Amino acid sequence: MSLTDANNLEINELHWMMDMLTNVDVGLVVLDSGYTIQTWNRFMQDHSGKADAEVKNKSIFEVFPEVPEAWFKHKIDSVFMLHSRAFSTWEQRPYLFKFKNYRPITGTEDTMYQNATMIPIMSAGGDVSHVCLLIYDVTDIATSKKELTRLNKELENLSRTDRLTGLYNRGYWEELFEKEYEKCCRYKTESTAIIFDIDHFKKVNDTYGHQAGDEVIRKTALLLKELVRKTDMAGRYGGEEFVVFLPNTKAESAEIFAERLRKKIESFTVTHEDKKINFTISLGVCQFKDTLQSHEKWIEKADQALYHSKENGRNQTTIAEI
Ligand code: GH3
Ligand code: MG
Ligand code: MG
Repeated sequence: MSLTDANNLEINELHWMMDMLTNVDVGLVVLDSGYTIQTWNRFMQDHSGKADAEVKNKSIFEVFPEVPEAWFKHKIDSVFMLHSRAFSTWEQRPYLFKFKNYRPITGTEDTMYQNATMIPIMSAGGDVSHVCLLIYDVTDIATSKKELTRLNKELENLSRTDRLTGLYNRGYWEELFEKEYEKCCRYKTESTAIIFDIDHFKKVNDTYGHQAGDEVIRKTALLLKELVRKTDMAGRYGGEEFVVFLPNTKAESAEIFAERLRKKIESFTVTHEDKKINFTISLGVCQFKDTLQSHEKWIEKADQALYHSKENGRNQTTIAEI
């Protein structure tokens, strides 16, 4: 091979390389130590709408004010000093350059999610003279991951919630209640558990039908939700049985709550297919005491008080004696 042939081959290779770097589907920016843009490939042009000439020899912060200056300088400086790569992922920072997302599948996102890699470029003398910044469009990955997280959260909520009433279901309520019991044991807080049950509910079902019964359960939950505070925990414990945990509440205050709920339900009328249904509830109230050996025993005591309310004529509240 002659010298001219060898030269031609090198020039050809350089040409191919430049062509590839220009057209590759990754953003490529070369910066000097003053954060001035030296190279700007087509990906960057297409997504920013700024041509090569518009950005060349300009400070990156001047052309793109969205690039967080202090953070970015810190990253780039470390590449210059340590001669090693630096990274930024979409999870740490969704994007470096605010580009529009045009991808059809991930059309729900307005902005392109980006991963970025910063690579040191050595000069002939062995110093780092420039930094090459690679920008990857990871919108597809980010969107799927976010969607998965959202779905998992929804699934978690579904597994905790009772479908008919939207209250916590028994399993989840008990899980929380057990933790509260342990807190009470440790900190000796005065908290109270309430359990209540709809009176003669079988009659509601028998007289008006199961659908009407469901509506009564739903309305009971709604009236309960209107009364509880954010820190209280309300759950559906069984068919027409409900539980409420009132933190930092003594039995006397819990009784006031219970009576308020009882009266509210007593005076409420459920309308189902033009039928007017009135109903009542019976309640059992039990404050925490350190002689209670488990959270199960605690709710059992409340349940015994509820049983007493039923025996005593229903539509009333009983405080457990412990
Ligand atoms: P008491 O006053 O002693 O509580 O009498 P009750 O009739 O309310 O009590 P019981 O526990 O005997 O009956 C409860 C009924 O609730 C039996 C069951 O068929 C019905 N039930 C349970 N879950 C549901 C539900 O989700 N929807 C409807 N409509 N009925 C339910
Ligand atoms: Mg009942
Ligand atoms: Mg019952």
